[in-house]
Amino acid sequence: MPFGLLKYGLRRRYPARPDLPPEPDLRPAYDVVIVGGGGHGLAIAYYLAREHGITNVAVLEKNYIGGGNTGRNTTVIRSNYVTPESVRFYKAAVELYRDLSEELDVNLMYAERGQLTLAHNDASIRSFRLRAEVGKLLGTRIELIDPPAIRALVPALHMPEGGRYPILAGLWHQDGGLARHDAVAWGFAARAAERGVHIFQRTEVTGIDVESGRAVGVATNRGRIAAGAVVQAVAGYSSLLAKMAGFRLPIRTYPLQAMVTEPVKPFLEPLVSSAQLHAYVSQTARGELVIGGGSDPYELYSTRSTLDLKESLIQHTLELFPFLANVKLLRQWAGVTDMTPDYSPIMGESPVAGYWLDAGWGTYGFKATPASGRYMARAIATNRVPDILRPFALDRFRSLALVNEMGATAASH
Ligand SMILES: Cc1cc2nc3c(=O)[nH]c(=O)nc-3n(C[C@H](O)[C@H](O)[C@H](O)COP(=O)(O)OP(=O)(O)OC[C@H]3O[C@@H](n4cnc5c(N)ncnc54)[C@H](O)[C@@H]3O)c2cc1C
Repeated sequence: MPFGLLKYGLRRRYPARPDLPPEPDLRPAYDVVIVGGGGHGLAIAYYLAREHGITNVAVLEKNYIGGGNTGRNTTVIRSNYVTPESVRFYKAAVELYRDLSEELDVNLMYAERGQLTLAHNDASIRSFRLRAEVGKLLGTRIELIDPPAIRALVPALHMPEGGRYPILAGLWHQDGGLARHDAVAWGFAARAAERGVHIFQRTEVTGIDVESGRAVGVATNRGRIAAGAVVQAVAGYSSLLAKMAGFRLPIRTYPLQAMVTEPVKPFLEPLVSSAQLHAYVSQTARGELVIGGGSDPYELYSTRSTLDLKESLIQHTLELFPFLANVKLLRQWAGVTDMTPDYSPIMGESPVAGYWLDAGWGTYGFKATPASGRYMARAIATNRVPDILRPFALDRFRSLALVNEMGATAASH
């Protein structure tokens, strides 16, 4: 038995401090009210306090912090997108992740194990070549590799040369990685609270107060709160919040499911994904296999998992790793994801003055958490949207300056 465990086991008072201070009294007014206590809302609060000295901030979470998509995702972190705008943004996020455990003083178990995306046809090879060139130009570690190199990276992968899903090439992204998702939310929450940010759980926003075209506060199940600025960071509920503020978002909401198996001996270092098979697999530090795929094919606000998805996802995973046929599934779950027409997020101003959007994070927002937090905080603090966020403005859907990431996002979150 480790000495520390024995020592604390024998002590009357456990020395650990709670992650969050006791809940403070709700003030009648804050400089900034953030709706949504997921990774994004908490990261915005943290960077407002840390980088801009803005601490009169409340984060309002209707449930418990990190209990939304932040605690439901499959933790893929990567920057191997198609458009330069996305590559620049997600690369900034990867760079922040590298030092985040130290910065937040929480072990996020961040591990850059690389991500391998498989090409089963010529069209995929062409698009991978483009992604590799864009990525290299912008300084990410990415290259197109051939079957012998794939075999060397993942010896356990079933590699047919013919049939329905031959493996012809791979997009190898060494910067790809994983982190512990709930720790990201708790880390940002703890460090934001330490700096004076107020975090309220079980506090639901039921209305947005708008006067003369400007957001001036929110209505909640605990009363009204006045605000200098309001931010919505509610992932799968973005359209509902925007409706409360009086405008519509170009978003459709779909369930997204994932599953995890019992632990098995480590055999899979990189994250492996296949867009044609609509499946991706990674192995946790504990040995479990985390398996995900595409969204459910219908719009719904539901976190129910379905037999349909389980069957198809297992079938596709077994195309890649047939020897897993007898491994048991431990859990299957779902989150509610907001998809935009171009599969890119919406960050920045809204049609209502003083009302900021951090929305449309669909199936890909976990990896973005520190970067959206940092740059959204900068936008709110300076009232000027930083260049790195500008391509993701809501008005791109009017001007048709889309940031199309459908090909790089569909089944490889
Ligand atoms: C199965 C699955 C797998 C995924 N895999 C990946 C992946 O591998 N990599 C990746 O980058 N992304 C992935 N994602 C997407 C990612 O999880 C999300 O984009 C990201 O977590 C969004 O973070 P958030 O903080 O905006 O949202 P959330 O963590 O959902 O936080 C929003 C919070 O807002 C709260 N809220 C909603 N309405 C209100 C209200 N009216 N009042 C107060 N609070 C409210 C909710 O309770 C919730 O806690 C996946 C998602 C799912 C579901």
